[in-house]
Amino acid sequence: MEHLVDILRSEHHLPPEGYAALIDSAAGSILDYAMQNAREVAVARFGNGIFIRGLIEITNYCRNDCYYCGIRRSNRHVERYRMSREQILARCRMGHKLGFRTFVLQGGEDAALSDAWIEETVHDIRTEFPDCAITLSLGERTREAYLRFYNAGANRYLLRHETATPEHYALLHPSFMSFEHRMQNLRELKEIGYQTGTGIMVGSPGQTTEHIVRDIMFIESFRPQMIGLGPYIPQDDTPFAGQPAGDIRITLMLLSIFRLMFPDALIPSTTALATLAPDGRERGILAGANVVMPNLSPEDTRAKYALYNDKKATGLESAEGLRGLETQLETIGYRISFERGDYAPSDSI
Ligand code: SAM
Repeated sequence: MEHLVDILRSEHHLPPEGYAALIDSAAGSILDYAMQNAREVAVARFGNGIFIRGLIEITNYCRNDCYYCGIRRSNRHVERYRMSREQILARCRMGHKLGFRTFVLQGGEDAALSDAWIEETVHDIRTEFPDCAITLSLGERTREAYLRFYNAGANRYLLRHETATPEHYALLHPSFMSFEHRMQNLRELKEIGYQTGTGIMVGSPGQTTEHIVRDIMFIESFRPQMIGLGPYIPQDDTPFAGQPAGDIRITLMLLSIFRLMFPDALIPSTTALATLAPDGRERGILAGANVVMPNLSPEDTRAKYALYNDKKATGLESAEGLRGLETQLETIGYRISFERGDYAPSDSI
């Protein structure tokens, strides 16, 4: 099995059955070997600096109804909120003082947030913080809207494809949501010039190894600059409430696979991973991740952005916990990088 990791490291590619074999062996000792190789590749490329992104969860209203997600529109138990532009700017100011140079505006697909409103918000952040990257993660919109946000100063966009298998997509989403539309949006984002991120939930209901291999093949051909993956975690008020959470070791194996495939990619160690295991964030970094996204949202909205049960949003998972994060990283030989951390292909540096 080690030879598969060696080939992936040198050629950045495996045949589908090679990926499947690694995924199916994640419970064994090969995981340590894959993680060690992925970590060596990440350190050779980025040193021991971990980029930080300030996550601002701007709204939990959503017109979509994804069966796995706690802020889906049919969930009547969620207290809905929407931040004002001034509140968002205030969080950016706080984050900037702390040293953040990337702000990630994430939210449900809130129909009340018009394209013009988002455009103006991006414009205001860009004007006040010319040295910062602006990342949006606001779901599916029109090409024209994406272009307006880009021209207003947004640099990056995160839109997980969730699954590259249409039948699996149909199992996770109601019929009014379209697999093709999401894929189309991803292509548009990349064409416009965004540093584009995509990814999946590991262990989402109904997911098989074959599905994951198709996700890998999709990501291989799409070549995103950012790859986001975290374990699926059930949320009590969703139709998938009773389903088991995703497997941490498979998540770590996939982080390592993607690092070996894409040495330059920006790969976060996600909040979902940190939620599932107390040392999840460190293990993600030791598997080759090079980004963490502390929460810059106001205290009173964090609990309301409950995508899944027990989502971590306090302590180290918050901006105030930056010092704690530093200590945590130091214990595994890493440090916070306060650089903006744009995607840069190796041959350009
Ligand atoms: N609405 C935007 C979108 O669809 O891209 C951004 C917000 S959405 C809540 C962000 C991500 O949360 C999704 O892409 C999904 O992968 C993840 N997510 C939702 N529910 C989850 C769950 N139960 N467990 C783990 N991740 C989840």
